Amino acid sequence: MRTDDTVARQGGDEFVIILIDLSPEFEKAAVQAEGIAEKIRSAINRPFELQGSKYHTSPSIGICLFGGHEITMDELLKRADTAMYQAKQSGRNTIRFFDPATHAAMEMRIALETDLRRAVPENQLRLYYQMQVDQTGHIHGAEVLLRWQHPKQGLVPPLQFIPLAEDTGLILPIGYWVLETACVKLKAWASDPNARHLQLAVNVSARQFRHPDFVEQVCAVLDATGIDPAKLKLELTESLVLDNVSDTIAKMQALKNIGVHFSLDDFGSGYSSLSYLSQLPLNQVKIDQSFVHNIGVKNTDAVIVQTIIGMANNLGLNVIAEGVETQAQRDFLERNGCPNYQGFLFGKPVPLAEFEILLLKNKRG
Ligand code: C2E
Ligand code: MG
Ligand code: MG
Repeated sequence: MRTDDTVARQGGDEFVIILIDLSPEFEKAAVQAEGIAEKIRSAINRPFELQGSKYHTSPSIGICLFGGHEITMDELLKRADTAMYQAKQSGRNTIRFFDPATHAAMEMRIALETDLRRAVPENQLRLYYQMQVDQTGHIHGAEVLLRWQHPKQGLVPPLQFIPLAEDTGLILPIGYWVLETACVKLKAWASDPNARHLQLAVNVSARQFRHPDFVEQVCAVLDATGIDPAKLKLELTESLVLDNVSDTIAKMQALKNIGVHFSLDDFGSGYSSLSYLSQLPLNQVKIDQSFVHNIGVKNTDAVIVQTIIGMANNLGLNVIAEGVETQAQRDFLERNGCPNYQGFLFGKPVPLAEFEILLLKNKRG
């Protein structure tokens, strides 16, 4: 480095270098910075020996140019970090400049967050219902799946905004809205002979479940609506339940005691250990759709499906398969002892009015 430059250790294996007195012209400054970065990269990349063994490091370098105080120090470090992350992603041992496109993506995320804050108060959230059927094709329930009716972008699927909602804590009011809306529907169905048997499955995300008031919130919604708690099934994922097993068991047990059901979503995709699984007060496991899709395609996945069904049966748990798209998948599942299905073969997620029509048809058919 030049004597005027600053080299600092930021923590762990991260270092920050400040280069001063580069050209006032943006492009020239970029070329200078890249030249120095390249020198550093090749120096660090050289093999070295420690106690007789050869070692080799591949540094990833992110560069962000700045001309004065137009952005804060925090922002500057964030940009350098974004650039460094991109260097890592492009296979390490590379240099990347902070890229305005990445920056634009970040800005879009911020804009989306601003919009998402309005989603609940401005009534932009929708619930879609996807039927769950038994061996005879009878609808015994549905999973409620969230959609966001964005004023400009149209219907936004959950995977595009739930991660953001989780990061920002907006999942708390959103999750509460989903729970409440589902329970209000169950209450209306309780006096309808065509629908009173239905159970609704509600997805619960980690941040929502970990909230200290989660159990109380569910109880409050159950009290307010007066529904049979057994009509409510909460879907938790493997990674959620395993993250803090004792907290998970305590909360699940408290809700199970009043009659709420639990299903383990996306089962098989995580790393559940059997000993934990048997400790959880579950009612159901839901076979992840990736395995269902591979029935007849990848033999090891078919074997995993058989193993999950066998395990669920041995533990006295109900089992359902999701993402069932073909008759062959359904038949394989039935032959192997899985009597409940959800998937496009039976019905896509649809708005409430359409779901209620499907219910009537299902009854007649
Ligand atoms: P999930 O709970 O595993 O939901 C199943 C997803 O698979 C849904 O996608 C559904 O539309 C889709 N699916 C169902 N059948 C089939 C099929 O036969 N083939 C294929 N290819 N896909 C099928 P969706 O609605 O986009 O939801 C994605 C994820 O978003 C959900 O995965 C869940 O993790 C999350 N999510 C949805 N609604 C909520 C919610 O209210 N709260 C929370 N926390 N998460 C939600
Ligand atoms: Mg689910
Ligand atoms: Mg799933």
